[in-house]
Order: sequence, then structure tokens, then C-alpha cells
Amino acid sequence: CIPWLDNHEAASVAYISFGTSATPPPIEIVALAEALQVSGTPFLCTPKSIESLFSPAERVPGNVRPYAVPDGVQEGHVFSGEPVEHINLYLTAVGEGESLRGVLKAAEAETGRRIGCVMSDAFMWFAGDLAEEMGVPWVPLMAGGANSITAHFYTDLIRETVGMHDIVGRENDIVKFIPGFSELRLGDLPTGVLFGNLESPFAIMLHKMGRALPKATAIAINSFEELDPDIIQDLKSKFKMILNVSPFSAISLPSSPPPPTSYTDEYGCIPWLDNRKAASVAYIGFGTLATPPPVEIAALAEALEASGTPFLWSLKDNFKKFFPEGFIKRTSERGKIVPWAPQEQVLAHGSVGVFVTHCGWNSALESVVAGVPLIGRPFFGDHQLNAWMVENVWKIGVRVEGGVFTKSGTMSALELVLTHVKGKELRERVEMFRKLALKAAGPEGSSTRNLHTLLEIVAGYNL
Ligand code: UDP
Repeated sequence: CIPWLDNHEAASVAYISFGTSATPPPIEIVALAEALQVSGTPFLCTPKSIESLFSPAERVPGNVRPYAVPDGVQEGHVFSGEPVEHINLYLTAVGEGESLRGVLKAAEAETGRRIGCVMSDAFMWFAGDLAEEMGVPWVPLMAGGANSITAHFYTDLIRETVGMHDIVGRENDIVKFIPGFSELRLGDLPTGVLFGNLESPFAIMLHKMGRALPKATAIAINSFEELDPDIIQDLKSKFKMILNVSPFSAISLPSSPPPPTSYTDEYGCIPWLDNRKAASVAYIGFGTLATPPPVEIAALAEALEASGTPFLWSLKDNFKKFFPEGFIKRTSERGKIVPWAPQEQVLAHGSVGVFVTHCGWNSALESVVAGVPLIGRPFFGDHQLNAWMVENVWKIGVRVEGGVFTKSGTMSALELVLTHVKGKELRERVEMFRKLALKAAGPEGSSTRNLHTLLEIVAGYNL
């Protein structure tokens, strides 16, 4: 950028950027829409998502037509930094889907065709009502795991059984009544089921999603059946059709173009990893929304320095100010800090030995697919539930002691996973799941079969 600017006149260039907190683009839905090969498929999302998914314009798949829906962000709005603020604004604006109705009608008028099927992010429960109104099937896609579907589907049961009063302080209670789970710590239920602000637009959305999903024609899930057999078995008995279709990027569909990939390594992570020993590096990343508080960033840095662990850390520049004085210089021989890493490729690199993560669903799944054990520091949403699965169900990682980064707790976790005999067991377990994931995405695998079924369902209604 700088040499390019050097060749322009003073104060002549417009610098354009939309910050770091854009909604994570629904890549999977675009890829599915593209795979459908139904021409003129209307694709509704917010202007910011359209910008990040389809810019430059050549990135719009041939059969997809993007239509913008209002994101609820008023001009001049200053974001507070609260992680799901933009989702709450969107939900307030969309109400029960009113703003989508007009856009759908416009799409029908423009394409000259009736919409035959509505596929939506599962969170958008009101898409089910719209589909019903239009007399067409609704196929929601759960971008999280089957474990989250269970938590939101059984929210009423959980609230009735556990009770809603005096709930604070009961986080460590272990319950055994939730179908699909042999046991679960109450504090690890997703935010908004029992704990947190149950009246926030986000919590209400998830509750309504749990109630709406039974009317879906089929529910697509960003996972593979073999990862959560008990949960899947229960969900299959409760819903019309459950179709796990991941690891999506590993599935090849002979009749359709490959899904879009956005793999770029502008900060040189892969060449840097090439020069490290096998399974020695801690890759650290907290997804697109979460960042540890300053005191924990400092503690994690101290633990990395004191333990001598080689590390690759995806962290935006404005958080580096929380590092201990001189940390970057002292660790420069064995540490690399980048504002963005090609995470799937990083995790698949043989020199990565552990993933220190917030346990966002995509991160957890990507670690499974790469066969890398995890150290979890969950924050909100489904992170806690995923961390529970990692440590207690799949047994492929550990939660950092006390759930927050301290120097000593983080050093113990790094030592345990990277050098201890327990670390070897975790690696063996995650390797087993890696093989199951790749098998599911293989030519005869469960996810490949499910994806074909999904495409048949959606395309069938549109042809
Ligand atoms: N990601 C990435 N590079 C980064 C940080 C994140 O590629 O430096 C990707 C990561 O691979 C994952 C997604 O961003 O696919 C984060 O999704 P996740 O569900 O884990 O967390 P969220 O961002 O929704 O909290």
C-alpha cells in the first residue's frame, strides 16, 4: 500500500475500509447456493456481507443474484465494541422478517420466477414463517454444531426442569436429563438459555429458532454425523430431516464448481511454519468477534515467553499494546504475530501442535479436521458448550484452568498438550476424529451423501 501511495498526489486518495467487526460472511450458504446450479438464485443478505462476499463483482457466482436487506445500522452509528451488537441491530430492524418479504417479492418480480424454496441461516427463524406463508419448504443451515441445536431446541425443557429462579451460582451443577448428552455442566449451556440476558434480541432469536426448527423440511448442519452420534440420533427422531454436510470444503461434487476459497497468506504464516519442528507450535486465535481482556492477553504472552513455546498468534495490531514491555522483541526468534492467518491451512500444517482458541464452532471443527488438540478459553455464545465437548465428550483438548488465562494455568495447559503423556492421548483422539471427518467428506461418506440429498431437495423445489 505505501509504495503505491507514494506515487499519488498529496491528499488526493480516498482510503476505504469497513473496520474489523464485519459480520462473518456466510460462506457456506454462498457455496451451497452456487452448488445448486439453479440460475438466478436470489441471495439475501446485508450490504456489508454483500460487500465482503461479492466484491469485486466477478466473485458473484454465475447462478446467484445478491439482494440487499437493511442491516439496521443507522447512519453515524458508533459501535460500542459489544461483540453481537450488529446482530442485535439487524434483529431489531428485521422484526419478524417484514423487511425480507418486500425483497423476496422484488426478487420474484425481477427474475420472473416464483421462489420454490427458502434456505436460510438457522438463526433466521422468521424465514420459516415466510416460507410457510409462501407455501414453500424451509431449509435452515446451522452454521454451529448439532450440540447447539439441542441446547436451543430443549431450552423450554431445560428452563422448566432446572427452574429460572436463583440460577446464579448453579453454573457448576451437572445435569443428566438433556437428550443426546450423558451429562452437561449448566454453565456451559449457550448464553441466553439459562444464564446471561434472556431478553436480549440475540437470546430471543435463539429461543425462537429452537421452537421453529421442527417445521423445517430439512436442517443442514455444519458438522459430520460421526462427531456427535448420540445427539444426531436424538435430533433425527425429533426433526423431519437432519443433514450434516461438513467438512464442507473437503467434499467434491463432480457436477458443480468447487466452493469459493479465500485462502491468502499475506503475512507469510505458512513459510514461517515451514521452518518449525513438527507439532511444536501453538497457534493462537479467537475468531472474528472475541478478544481476551488486556490482563489475559498479558498473561498469555507471559506464559508463551516463560514456557519457550514457539507460537503463531492471530491478533489485531491494536491489542499488542497489552503485551508486557519488550515481549515482541524478546520472542521474535520463535514467535509470529499477525492480524489475520489462513487458519484452516495453518492448522493443517504439520508444525502446529496445539490450537489455543475461543472454541467458536468453525475453529473447533477446523481443528478436528486438521487433527490438532485444543486449549479452550471460551467467552460467550456457543463457546462454552463447544469447550465442554472438546474436553468432556470428544476428549481432544482441555479448557484453560479456571476458564481464563493466567500465566501459570496457561503454562500448565501448554505443557500438558505439547509434552505430557496426556497430550499424546489427546492427539490420538483428535486423529481418530480427523479420519472420521475425512471419511464423511469422501466419495461414499455420510456428509457427501447428505449434501447430495440437500441439493436434490432444494433444487427439486426450484426446477
Ligand atoms: N479465521 C481465520 N483467520 C484468523 C481468524 C479467524 O481464517 O486469523 C477464521 C477461522 O478459520 C474460522 C472463522 O474465522 O473459520 C471463525 O469462526 P468461529 O466460528 O471459530 O468463530 P467466530 O468468529 O464466529 O467467533
